[in-house]
Amino acid sequence: MQTVHHIIGGKSVPGTGTRTGDVFNPATGEVTKKVVLGTQDDLNTAVAAAKAAFPAWAETPPLARARVLFRARDLIEQRMDDLAAVITSEHGKILSDAKGEVTRGLEVVEFATGVPELLKGEYTEQVGRGIDAWTMRQPVGIAAGITPFNFPVMVPLWMAPMALATGNCFILKPSERDPSASVLLAEILKEAGLPDGVFQVVHGDKDMVNAILEHPDIAAVSFVGSTPIAQHVYATGTAHGKRVQALGGAKNHALVMPDCDLDKTVDALIGAAYGSAGERCMAISVAVAVGSVADKLVAELEKKVKAITIGNGTHDASEMGPLVTAQHLARVTGLVESGVSQGATLVVDGRTIKVKDHEGGFFIGGSLFDHVTQEMDIYREEIFGPVLCVMRAPDFDAALKLINDSPFGNGTAIFTRDGDAARTFAHSVKAGMVGVNVPIPVPMAFHSFGGWKDSLFGDHHMHGPEGVRFFTRMKAVTQRWPAGIRSGAEFVMPTHG
Ligand code: NAD
Repeated sequence: MQTVHHIIGGKSVPGTGTRTGDVFNPATGEVTKKVVLGTQDDLNTAVAAAKAAFPAWAETPPLARARVLFRARDLIEQRMDDLAAVITSEHGKILSDAKGEVTRGLEVVEFATGVPELLKGEYTEQVGRGIDAWTMRQPVGIAAGITPFNFPVMVPLWMAPMALATGNCFILKPSERDPSASVLLAEILKEAGLPDGVFQVVHGDKDMVNAILEHPDIAAVSFVGSTPIAQHVYATGTAHGKRVQALGGAKNHALVMPDCDLDKTVDALIGAAYGSAGERCMAISVAVAVGSVADKLVAELEKKVKAITIGNGTHDASEMGPLVTAQHLARVTGLVESGVSQGATLVVDGRTIKVKDHEGGFFIGGSLFDHVTQEMDIYREEIFGPVLCVMRAPDFDAALKLINDSPFGNGTAIFTRDGDAARTFAHSVKAGMVGVNVPIPVPMAFHSFGGWKDSLFGDHHMHGPEGVRFFTRMKAVTQRWPAGIRSGAEFVMPTHG
């Protein structure tokens, strides 16, 4: 059986650990690979390689760094099918969705190729007589990325291109559930001309994460995953003197107004709730129906949820693949059961689904709940499965309050034809990313991605201008040449008048 190894110093190495993790094909339930679970020693080796590579990479002109990313961009495009196949084989999502994920990651590579422009500082001539001042941004040093299972290419590409373009060395610790795509990315970056040690992959579980958080030579940690782990990563990383951006879980609400275009809204909700089997941090998991629209909305959703084609992600006809592991399937199934026992109306029950010739696969069909309330576990917990909860609110204000009372604040959307309602929503809702008749408002690479409240710990969102700031330190230079010095020592605070 194939074992997935670390990529350290440009080489594939098994490392010093004795533990391995199982990698499944979620569509069949079979263990297809093992992944090495690394140790502190393995991380130390990777950090030493990064330290050795850093000075030359940091001194490489931004234009030359950008050229490496231009080549990587072309290689990712050429190997789109390979990347998508690896994602589907370990994550389970359908191939077209896997390609969509690679494309969204590619966009960050494209943005990062503009780094000579992005690193331009600010300059002020004559801040005092004969004195000029400017700011510049320099790499933080060695940065690490810790990523979740649900976007094994896109999320690493939210981070790595920004870190590399700005002159850092980057160590990626991907999810142990689907680790192979990261290895493929390392191969692509090497082929593009990235020097050894600048981008490395260490595999592992919480032991490796904690080793990263405590390592004195790692200056910055970029994390994406569930809220409890994001909180732990933020608290531990910052306590060890690092800058940390830690993106957490979500419970994304759609506010559905009575004047919405119902057909388009239903289609949008079906894609956003059930695409990738709901395993997206920007999935819509709650629809808040305002007033009279609720009954019609639930009736239309019911028809379309029942019509979703579930199957192996490699089959063209499949619209929704399996969940990632048997444990996750058991958790989602248990939450559906809790919804029933806590009094929600289960309109569509996905638990009975069977996929022909895939009896061992981790499949669950789309489920739809109505009359969900704030106390229920299906509302309080991030289910991260194909389960949409419909809640009912008497008016816009009540719906908005409900959304703002949620501890999560990743994405949200309103469906309406009323410009005033849409504007008020965008202005007042407490979430980081807002859609107006757009169900999954993921910002493009040249903007930044991030949530509010328990969906993000730290001050910086991902990629875009915020990514440049996160991976660089600012330096402000104030300059006066000797000919300009016409007086002796100054004992008052300089005011440059
Ligand atoms: P997870 O939190 O279980 O794992 C994320 C990373 O943390 C993995 O690399 C994992 O190895 C590591 N990890 C797991 N348990 C740990 C522990 N106890 N101590 C230290 N490290 C640990 O998340 P997941 O299940 O892989 O991914 C799904 C979650 O990620 C969902 O909550 C989803 O909302 C979230 N997510 C958020 C965003 C966002 O942008 N906010 C994007 C994608 C996914």
